[in-house]
Amino acid sequence: MPATILVGTQWGDEGKGKATDLLGDRMDLVVRYQGGNNAGHTVRAGEHTLKLHLVPSAILSPGVTPVIADGVVVDPGVLLEEMDELEARGIDTSRLLVSANAHLIMPYHLELDRVTERYLGRNRLGTTKRGIGPAYADKATRIGLRVQDLTDEKIFREKLEVVLKEKNAILSRVYNRLPLRADDIVRDYLGYGERLAPHIADTSAVLYRALREGKRVLLEGAQGTLLDLDHGTYPFVTSSNPVAGGALVGTGLGPKEVDRVIGVTKAYVTRVGSGPFPTEDEGQAGARMQDRGQEFGTTTGRRRRCGWFDAVLLRYAARVNGLTELFLTKLDVLSGLRSVKVCVAYRYEGAVFEDVPPHQSIVHRAEPVYEELEGWPEELSEARGVDDLPPAARKYVERLADLGDVPVGTVSVGPSREQTVEVGL
Ligand code: GDP
Repeated sequence: MPATILVGTQWGDEGKGKATDLLGDRMDLVVRYQGGNNAGHTVRAGEHTLKLHLVPSAILSPGVTPVIADGVVVDPGVLLEEMDELEARGIDTSRLLVSANAHLIMPYHLELDRVTERYLGRNRLGTTKRGIGPAYADKATRIGLRVQDLTDEKIFREKLEVVLKEKNAILSRVYNRLPLRADDIVRDYLGYGERLAPHIADTSAVLYRALREGKRVLLEGAQGTLLDLDHGTYPFVTSSNPVAGGALVGTGLGPKEVDRVIGVTKAYVTRVGSGPFPTEDEGQAGARMQDRGQEFGTTTGRRRRCGWFDAVLLRYAARVNGLTELFLTKLDVLSGLRSVKVCVAYRYEGAVFEDVPPHQSIVHRAEPVYEELEGWPEELSEARGVDDLPPAARKYVERLADLGDVPVGTVSVGPSREQTVEVGL
């Protein structure tokens, strides 16, 4: 049975947590394929709420095997902390698998992430300062250490000493920081290795075998399409590939192993931090989305910029991911607007672009071309079937599917699992 990929189609925060939760329960394995401990799903464990940044939230479903695949960068201290927290709440973490090939986030990555962002001043990227970008950079320059190195002291020490020489020179001579001690890192990381050893696996082979045995596999992307290193709004992007192609590279599965690519799409658009955002609404409608959709960062509390649905970006996401269906979230947030706008194209100096313009300075200055649709006063949070959606809301959903040229499979009308409408529009 082929695998399913789940990917965000916007700038992250599309509500992937709910989609993963809903789908994950019907799966045998749920896999993260890129990013690090910057994903952030809020999960309920008994009466406690906890935030998981690295461990797939599928850890809460006893029948599901959560997998951290090759393309993820792993901070082993953070991983063990999350596992300890889960265990303390009575949740078994023994099923968790971590790829031997996944790269490690090292203490100097954290240190460099902090100091370089400070150095960049107002040009900073707004990274999460968890060492993720520097770890991917070292992977590309082939000086990274991997999860498998944690179980071999000789190799770990050898590799570390080579890298640390350079990192310490940069830290002390460029940034005036104290050098890091190899012995401290070896002690801490081998300790992590001992604890993680039972979880370390050849996850590519595990997944391949699972698919051969007819098991159901979900490959879960973090962040979103427009944050993709290659296909996003560079340089305001993440340092990995959330797009569907990244799921193959990040797991070691071939393209024939996947037949379903679900794009999680919010019924309006939000963006955190700076960068172009053609459909941003700084008036009442945007404020309403912000308020009703609770659009502020979970860790920073920063207000997310809000705006109208952008079908140019949806078409783009459908293309670069090869989407087969949409999971549309937060439709309930739009209730009560007299009319709802959808951006169908961009206009710049008399030219009309139905696709994302080829040069980003055009995106910066482009004006959205809007289509205005009738709004709906009804609250949607009780809707459970297509017939419960008012005609105007249904029309809105149909129009998005039409403009994106991809069917809508599911509409979410609230945070809970029950607040879901299977549509197939
Ligand atoms: P994620 O990282 O992609 O999961 O996105 P966020 O961190 O922004 O999480 C989405 C938030 O919206 C969570 O608090 C969800 O409980 C909530 N949410 C998800 N789907 C819906 C929905 O359909 N309607 C409403 N009102 N809230 C939702």
